[in-house]
Order: sequence, then C-alpha cells, then structure tokens
Amino acid sequence: MADPLNIYVLSRNSRLYSTRRIVEAGKTRGHNVRVVDPLRCYVKISAHRPEVHYKGEILTPPDAVIPRIGASVTFYGTAVVRQFEMMGVFPLNESVAISRSRDKLRSLQLLARRGIGLPVSGFAYSPDDNDDLINLVGGAPLVIKLLEGTQGKGVVLAETTKAAESVIDAFRGLKAYFLTQEFIREAGGSDIRCFVVGGKVVASMKRQAKEGEFRSNVHRGGSATSVRITPEERQVATRAAKIMGLNVAGVDLMRSNHGPVVLEVNSSPGLEGIESATGKDIAGNMIQFIEKDGKAGKTRTKGRG
Ligand code: ADP
Ligand code: MG
Repeated sequence: MADPLNIYVLSRNSRLYSTRRIVEAGKTRGHNVRVVDPLRCYVKISAHRPEVHYKGEILTPPDAVIPRIGASVTFYGTAVVRQFEMMGVFPLNESVAISRSRDKLRSLQLLARRGIGLPVSGFAYSPDDNDDLINLVGGAPLVIKLLEGTQGKGVVLAETTKAAESVIDAFRGLKAYFLTQEFIREAGGSDIRCFVVGGKVVASMKRQAKEGEFRSNVHRGGSATSVRITPEERQVATRAAKIMGLNVAGVDLMRSNHGPVVLEVNSSPGLEGIESATGKDIAGNMIQFIEKDGKAGKTRTKGRG
C-alpha cells in the first residue's frame, strides 16, 4: 500500500453515486478522503499565500483534489480548482482542461486541429448564412446543438430543411450559440463511452437510445452495456483525452461510416453507468492514478491560464 494521502473530493453532494464511490475507493486504499463542496469554498487571493477557506475554516492544502464540477457551476468551480493549483495541490483534472472540455466548439476545434475524426460541424454568426450552415454539414437530416448543453438537452435532430430553419431561428432568438452537425444515422442511436484514466481506456460501454429517440444519454432513457472497442477506437479515445489535457475523461464516440468520430469529451464522467455495465472498479483506478502520478507540485499549469 502507498503512503496515506489527504484527498479532497470537490463535489456538491456526498450522496451522489460517483462521489460515494470515490470516497470509498480512497478509504479502502488507506487514504484520508474528505468531500468539500466547491460552492462553499471561498478564496483569499494574495501574492504570497493563496488560501482556500471553507465554512469558516482555512483548509490545509491536501495532496490532491478530485474535481467533480457540475456543468452549471463551471466558472466558480474551476476558479476553486485553480486556487488549489496555485497552492501546489495536484488536481486529478486541471482547471484549464475542465474549462476547455465544457465548450463544445472549442473542444471540436482543438480535436480537429490534431486530426481526430469528428462529425462534420458548422458554426455561423449571421442569419444571412443559414442556408450555407445547413448545407455545409450535408443538409437535412442534421443535428443542431447548443454549445453549452448536457444530458442531451439542447441537442435536436432536424429531419427537414424547414425544421432546421425553425430551430436555428429559435436558438438565434434566444441569443444562444449552437452548432450544426452531420447526422450520424448509421450509428443507429448508439454511442460508445470510453472511460480514460491516465492515458488508458479502463472501461467502455455502448449506450443505446430508447425506441424512437436518437440521443443515447442515460438521462434520456438510454441503456448501457459493456462493449469491446477496436484498437483504433482505443487510440482515438486516449488521444482525445490527451489533447484536452484530461487525466480522467469520458470520451464519447460514434461508429460512423467514415470511422470513429468523437462527439464530446467529458471531464467529470459519471461512474454509476460504467461501473454497473462493466463491473469494474473505476473509482479505484482514479485513486491509483493519484498514488502513482499525483505528486504535489506536479500540476502542469500551477493555476496559470
Ligand atoms: P450532451 O452534452 O447533451 O450529451 P451530445 O453532443 O453528447 O450532447 O449529444 C447527445 C446525444 O445525441 C449523443 O450521445 C448521441 O447519442 C446523439 N448525437 C449527438 N450528436 C449526434 C450526431 N451528430 N449524429 C447522431 N447522433 C448524435
Ligand atoms: Mg453527451
């Protein structure tokens, strides 16, 4: 067994399955694990001694933090992670990488730059370019998605050009940024979640959308089963996590007729679906990674950027 470490899990709710499993896995391996609500952390920003306060207490810097930052609190949550980084604490995922992964457009651009396969996507500002925006992803049927959405909310399948125009008008009216995207019909409503820890795919599952639905999200009634992935898929998943700068990532792929395409890279992937579909101890993998690589001061950015 490794030396006991002090680990904080930055999570708003200690009763969540993922949070409970991470705490349990850490304790099983002999570590001191504490759940800290990132929204109750407040920070003292000063030149020489950055501090994180919590409900009146000044927190002793732990050896590592495990950020489990919800999408709705990304701005505040990453500021707290960054403060820990400034104190030399090792974050399982760095604040910059988390911020990057939360912006679908930025993520796709970063992945495209390195040659990762993606559904062909379009982005435009002016309503004058609506026709082209639809045509450059191959026309209807096409997918239209909000840049900041999770759990399948804000992802729409437009079956016809008319439907696409209406959705685009609606999103523009709400001043929401969105992408148009090639519809990967051949995937038949399924995608593959590859769970990456420390540069390796430690588990993978296939998620299938329920009847009459194209989104495979578990929150939309999708079901998950363990799946064997190909060496190419494995390589795409590990490369995508690396490009995003994430030690822990849920990389979502679809099997398209032009090879595996990455849909998104999640920086706080849930454990419940993947652990129950595969029977693997993923929380244990995360703790092991910290034991091996999570040395204090090993943060690459130290709160920069
Ligand atoms: P979210 O962040 O809301 O999960 P995703 O981009 O992952 O958004 O899309 C949700 C689901 O919709 C995916 O898991 C997939 O099943 C389906 N989907 C998304 N984009 C496409 C696409 N281009 N073609 C076919 N299905 C898609
Ligand atoms: Mg998704």
